[in-house]
Amino acid sequence: MSRDIDYTFKILMLGSASTGKSSLSDRYVHGIFSEDIKLTVGVEFFVKTIHYKDKFVKLQIWDLGGESKFRFLLPTYCLGSSGAIFLFDLTRPETLHELDSWIGIVREKNSQIPIFLVGNKKDLTDIRKVPEDHGIQTAIQNNLTEYIETSAKSGENVEFIFQSLTEHMLKKIERLKLH
Ligand code: GDP
Ligand code: MG
Repeated sequence: MSRDIDYTFKILMLGSASTGKSSLSDRYVHGIFSEDIKLTVGVEFFVKTIHYKDKFVKLQIWDLGGESKFRFLLPTYCLGSSGAIFLFDLTRPETLHELDSWIGIVREKNSQIPIFLVGNKKDLTDIRKVPEDHGIQTAIQNNLTEYIETSAKSGENVEFIFQSLTEHMLKKIERLKLH
């Protein structure tokens, strides 16, 4: 059975290399996790259509490779996006260092889109280095929409971040329609 799509949303997966952007997208779209996932070269796309409230929403997930030689593509890659997820690795505090510059570029192109700060690899409790409180404070300081912790490995909160982001994107578009 096919049905018309009410909305298509472009979601950006941002963050340093090896934070789990591809793993999280794969877990969400295909329900799988692989320890030996391939390094993303350039951009990869994941698509999933979901039924949310009474709407059919197509999520187009843009997963940018972490290689710095592709960084120049970021402003172009941001065009037309409806939401973004900035992923960092809870075991590597340095993966938060690039947050400012990535967010700056995203806001320049789409100042109002919801951006989530997501701390991934929550399952690695023994080697975790970033406390939850630091994540929350960082999200507040950078004016981000939500702070959520996930594990692409266990699946914890994976469905939730995309559902919640969809809710924010829908609210924004429905608000615009009222004006
Ligand atoms: P990307 O470069 O941001 O796309 O990161 P990848 O998805 O390629 O993941 C980098 C490495 O981290 C891979 O070896 C993954 O298996 C691993 N990884 C990703 N997410 C998790 C997670 O939630 N928990 C654990 N333990 N490992 C993860
Ligand atoms: Mg990747």
